[in-house]
Amino acid sequence: MRELSKRTAGFTDSVIRRMTRVSLQYGAVNLSQGFPDFDPPGEILDALANAAHGGPHQYAITWGAQNFREALAEKQRRFTGLDIDPESQIVVTCGSTEAMMAAVMTVCDPGDRVIVFSPFYENYGADAILSGAEPIYVPLHPPEFNFDQDELEAAFQQRPKALILCNPSNPCGKVFTREELMCIARLAEKYDAYVITDEVYEHIVYEPHEHVYFAALPGMFERTLSCSSLSKTYSITGWRLGYIIAPARLIEVARKVHDFLTVGAAAPLQEAAVVGLRFGDDYYRALRDSYARKRALFLNGLDALKIVHTDPQGAYYVMLDIREFGYESDLEFCEDLARKVGVGAVPGSSFFHEPVNHLIRLHFAKREDTLNEALNRLETMRTKMRR
Ligand code: GLN
Repeated sequence: MRELSKRTAGFTDSVIRRMTRVSLQYGAVNLSQGFPDFDPPGEILDALANAAHGGPHQYAITWGAQNFREALAEKQRRFTGLDIDPESQIVVTCGSTEAMMAAVMTVCDPGDRVIVFSPFYENYGADAILSGAEPIYVPLHPPEFNFDQDELEAAFQQRPKALILCNPSNPCGKVFTREELMCIARLAEKYDAYVITDEVYEHIVYEPHEHVYFAALPGMFERTLSCSSLSKTYSITGWRLGYIIAPARLIEVARKVHDFLTVGAAAPLQEAAVVGLRFGDDYYRALRDSYARKRALFLNGLDALKIVHTDPQGAYYVMLDIREFGYESDLEFCEDLARKVGVGAVPGSSFFHEPVNHLIRLHFAKREDTLNEALNRLETMRTKMRR
């Protein structure tokens, strides 16, 4: 038979999602793919029950139901200070996964370049390949995961069409400072590049760090496609509700891409989520506090086990240094960890462009009893895993 498309030969299935299957196979506590094991807010669930009986059950407007876009514009206005027009500056997508893909396809032709910081969320590699764009990787240097301005400018000198910015950052937990973002903004302007943000962890930031919206920096709204989702903010990762916010000129094109990719996000779920978008500031404060407690519990547990790890400023991932265990392959390490210790993790190599294989990523978006169980199991790691 004829060979299949060349573009799909360029990447594997998602290692993150594969590790969820491995965790299920071995009955491991799944700290690999980042999603909560606790319920979404009760008000959202009530609204879902109402939508089940009251509808809508047919297609919403392809770029998002009117009331959803209005509530989203209002919420983002509150947090960003930007005056967002729900009629022309929003497209609602199936998760930020589609938002990012649609954003890259909106901006890039085959052969165009996009800057991606490394480590990076693995979807960006596939986004680039599927849209024909070529990534230019710029390292974030541990332990602070700072970028070097000269290295970044050298990347811009290759005339990329766009830069992808994950902030707060998955997997390293970096929250970019205003100064760092201003530096990116200056370069984006100087070299006339778009900025595509992935801000799904915008509300999960640990003190004293603060999330700064790139689009809200002076002059940046015009060249930014802000992607985000409701998945992490309202603990509804399975609902697949995401969006792009950008100037009308960009959204007009993004809507075309979105329309032919998926037609639209699920109508009853958009309806049910509106109540969440209208939550007051106390909801977001409580969310932050709850994640700060989970972070403290989990990182203190790792410290007690004397495991070297990163110190996330935002998002809900932590990277563990596994050098002491003597594995050559972090993938093999993660398979053994799921099978012998009973904890699911993601091999760090799936996030780095550089040949890094001494890190694994765990997440702590779980109930406290789940995190305690994972820590109990990790306590056995040194006896069960040493090579
Ligand atoms: N963002 C999540 C992670 O990094 C996964 C999201 C997804 O699988 N779509 O684990």
